[in-house]
Amino acid sequence: MRKRWFSLAVAGLLAAATLVPATPAMAAPTFKVPFPCGQSWSGQTRSDHSPAYAVDFNRTDDLGDPVVASAPGTVDRVTDLGGTSYGKYVRIDHGAGYTTYYAHLNGFNVSVGQSVGYGAVIGWVGSTGGSTGPHLHYEQRLNGNDIQVRFNGALALYWGTKTYTSDNACSSGTASGTVNTAGADLTVRSGPGTGYSAVGSVADGARVTIYCQTSGSTVTGTYGTSSIWDRIGSGRYISDAYVNTGYDGYIPNVPRC
Ligand SMILES: [Zn+2]
Repeated sequence: MRKRWFSLAVAGLLAAATLVPATPAMAAPTFKVPFPCGQSWSGQTRSDHSPAYAVDFNRTDDLGDPVVASAPGTVDRVTDLGGTSYGKYVRIDHGAGYTTYYAHLNGFNVSVGQSVGYGAVIGWVGSTGGSTGPHLHYEQRLNGNDIQVRFNGALALYWGTKTYTSDNACSSGTASGTVNTAGADLTVRSGPGTGYSAVGSVADGARVTIYCQTSGSTVTGTYGTSSIWDRIGSGRYISDAYVNTGYDGYIPNVPRC
């Protein structure tokens, strides 16, 4: 009986082992060019870059241009190294060991722990840290190791300079924003203007989904003076002057109402 029991136990272990997969091969995220939909940027790779597979992005007058998440994930670093190295940089954790780095930023539009989707503005192009002119230094890493950059699965040019056109969040059609009134609730109107009836309010700091934008009455708010109104629901509009969308003016990819 003892022998038989042992055999059955071993058989059971073997069956369990075959049912439990070994470390599953996790697919790489589909990374997109880290700029808004439709924009074309010159991306340079060079063998003396540090790390070697990083891409430096430029376009004309790029200082202050929005930088967006190249895939969904969780922001796990928002760090300012001062006048050295990356300067102001953001790291996004995409899961399965994949991370992306966005360095030399002018400023941050995210905080640690924040979930981001495709096209979310994480900061703006700058020249902070060990940089001699505005550009975005961009990296993809797997388990902490620098890997060759891919967009939509296609390998970047190694080595050289190539134009990359973004299809990042082109089809989303919506954006998210954060209401900032510095305290008070923000009145929601039935149409794009202060003359429309109040139909509710949103709290300072609330995240809103913006379905479309349109022109309405001019409002001076936390982010300056704007005539843009954001539709955040059916028959629900708020002034864009109080919403941090990461953009001055209209948001790329969000339709006009
Ligand atoms: Zn670089």
